[in-house]
Amino acid sequence: MNLFKIKTLDDKYYMNVFGKRLNAAFTHGEDVYLYDTTGKKFTDFLAGIAVNSLGYSNEGFKNALKSQIDKIIHTSNYFYNAPQAELAKLLCEKTDMDKVFFANSGAEANECALKLAKKAAFDKGVDNPKFITLKNSFHGRTVATVTATGQKKFYTPYLPGGFNYEYIEANDINAAKNAVKNEVCSVIIELIQGEGGVLPLDVDYVKFLKQLCEQTGAMLIVDEIQTGMGRTGTFLCCEQYGIKPDILTLAKSLGNGVPIGACLATKEAASSFNPGDHGSTFGGNLLACAAALYVTQAVDDEMLKQVNEIGNYFKLRLELLKREKPDKIAEVRGLGLMLGMELKSDVQAGEVRNKMFENGFLTATAGFNTLRFLPPYIIKPDNIDELIENLRLLL
Ligand SMILES: *Cc1c(COP(=O)(O)O)cnc(C)c1O
Repeated sequence: MNLFKIKTLDDKYYMNVFGKRLNAAFTHGEDVYLYDTTGKKFTDFLAGIAVNSLGYSNEGFKNALKSQIDKIIHTSNYFYNAPQAELAKLLCEKTDMDKVFFANSGAEANECALKLAKKAAFDKGVDNPKFITLKNSFHGRTVATVTATGQKKFYTPYLPGGFNYEYIEANDINAAKNAVKNEVCSVIIELIQGEGGVLPLDVDYVKFLKQLCEQTGAMLIVDEIQTGMGRTGTFLCCEQYGIKPDILTLAKSLGNGVPIGACLATKEAASSFNPGDHGSTFGGNLLACAAALYVTQAVDDEMLKQVNEIGNYFKLRLELLKREKPDKIAEVRGLGLMLGMELKSDVQAGEVRNKMFENGFLTATAGFNTLRFLPPYIIKPDNIDELIENLRLLL
């Protein structure tokens, strides 16, 4: 089908939530490259929004899926499931958590995390417990997660939502001290706010939050849906912050494109769920778990080392570009292969993204005037050099 036909059908039948999309439909991928219906080649610095981390030619991944498809795709959570059991063990080991629940998306993983904290408060006899969330955060699109998202443009139409959220300023120790009191059942954070603009939280602030949670009995939920699975150069970003959450969520890279999310918890935090308190038809089915099992095994020390090395090189190149163009680039932020470049106000990040797209590079925008880069982990220095050269000519 050609692009014109696809666009005509999309205009007519798809709910208008994505507006005017970027002008391409991809037919296949190879390595870190995507090809559209006209055969045009794009270098992928987006990876399906931090999803396709192994790139497009990982034969081991494809074979793991094909072999699972040839056996069975789905049964139901009425039955035991070998890839699910194996993935549960491996993920718990790699994250230092005790228990897991598998969902189909990031929002659903967070939904599970929030329900877990709410259920614990309910069991203690607290009727309408408070949840603390940070301004500028992003936690998903379901009712509970969109209202946990600290951005008015996302949550306003859906208030009052289900839970009692208080939105506090990130990195403000006093605001945290005033907000996190005994009636608070949970604090939810991203260590690097992704959609909010690739904004890392301060290490001291996060450690302080962790301490507050311990003192008040609030559960700390760390949303690693974007930062997890090696994206920032360690399996979890938590490792670089030196904290252990009570509840942890993963999705995006977890299935390398096959939809799956995970909510992990310590034994204590997980204990508030009893049979019947939560569930899912598709969550953790055989195909999704076979995909995530392959990815979880693939993100080993060697791959993490690669993410660190190439991430450092990428960040250095962006910082050198900033030095060259101080009137255009305000700041370079991020860890590993989750990087953001905030532009000065006379350059629109959206326009740069669109021009880069015309030039054959997929990037994204985020937060306030920031260009966001989330390439597959197999991105090469040559790809980065080309991207930088294109940015240099554009800015
Ligand atoms: C993408 C994202 C989500 C939502 O994930 P979906 O799979 O789109 O539901 C939640 N939290 C963070 C930090 C994200 O980056």
